[in-house]
Amino acid sequence: MSPSTPVRRTNLRSGNMKRDTPSACGGVIHFSDHVPLTEIQKTHINLRPNRTVQRKKKGESVKQLVVLDGQPHAVCPETEKLIYKTFMVVTSGFRKDTIASGENPYLCNKKCPFCTAMITRWPRVEDRWELMSARLDECQRNGIWFEYLTISGNGEPSLVPVEELAYLKQVFDQKLHLFGYRRFQTGGAIFFIDRVFDLFGREFTFEITRLSVDDEEDMMGLVYKGNYTQTDAFKSAKVVFNIVLLKDNVRDVLSIIDRYVERFGDILAGLNLKILNINTFDESEVKNPQSQWILRNGLLKAEGDQVVRTMDQTFCRLEENFDPFLDRYVWNGPALPSGRQIPITLYARRAKYGLANVVYYGGDLVDYQLQPIRVPTSQERERIFAMAAEETL
Ligand code: SF4
Repeated sequence: MSPSTPVRRTNLRSGNMKRDTPSACGGVIHFSDHVPLTEIQKTHINLRPNRTVQRKKKGESVKQLVVLDGQPHAVCPETEKLIYKTFMVVTSGFRKDTIASGENPYLCNKKCPFCTAMITRWPRVEDRWELMSARLDECQRNGIWFEYLTISGNGEPSLVPVEELAYLKQVFDQKLHLFGYRRFQTGGAIFFIDRVFDLFGREFTFEITRLSVDDEEDMMGLVYKGNYTQTDAFKSAKVVFNIVLLKDNVRDVLSIIDRYVERFGDILAGLNLKILNINTFDESEVKNPQSQWILRNGLLKAEGDQVVRTMDQTFCRLEENFDPFLDRYVWNGPALPSGRQIPITLYARRAKYGLANVVYYGGDLVDYQLQPIRVPTSQERERIFAMAAEETL
């Protein structure tokens, strides 16, 4: 990683060129260099009930969006797969000792003031890793393919015993065909734990949430010790940063993006602009200190449109229209000297939280409200693919 990589913005700036000028955006886009759906066309979404809303161009592998009975689905007609965003493994991650009141009960190297785990307090469960393989087989039988696998946790997943992580890694290695690529969410602890980093370091992308590109500010804001950005492990990794959007930093979003790209460009796989969730279980339950912190400091989802406008004036979209199933906007961000552009994603939080995610928790496949995942029945599946085929004729 070079400490200061010059940033080149090849895209739209100052609103001189409109986003609907197709040639300005380079035609067919690459969704991600990891994703087997190699070329996903720009979409022309016109949301109507029960209509396919993304067309396929001749000779391209595409992701299509189908709305069946008001419910959006992302599909790939060519592979006949239903596309979900991520298969998320949430480790239970509780401390073994008695929980002192007010203390974070989760094994974690940080004390984020907006800690989602502290807001939702998922129940203590046995992780039941022995069921992982069978659960992934269920996904395969249901014709599901995931853009990526995420190892996550209530707490820091790299603090799970290394033997358990090695077992999981073995299972995931046998199921590579189910995922476009693989991520490991970390607070940075993994870069200090050689045995764990050695397991995942070469093959996984590390997803890290930051309050600031400046190390000291970040360490103070998220309350942690140990500057992981100085470790050799971090410098050799592939990284996605979640940049927390705050009321205070939203005006500077473009310069913040530039600073991340300048500082971390060589190891940066992408940037996410993160709108914090006040409560993923129940948005009306905000009495806890973490939700209160978010309400005071965080950019709220209703204010996300201003970020979309700013980004649209500057960058081309990778997925031209808002995708209501994956619930996100994606832009082709600043270019490195090599010509590689950094994708930037904003999750709009308009859909039910985690709609396109399947969560493994305690041996079950659930959504973010801990309810069993409902995948389309075989009849619904047939209708979804019939609609997709009809639209691409
Ligand atoms: S890293 Fe995650 S679990 Fe740890 S304090 Fe921050 S939000 Fe909570």
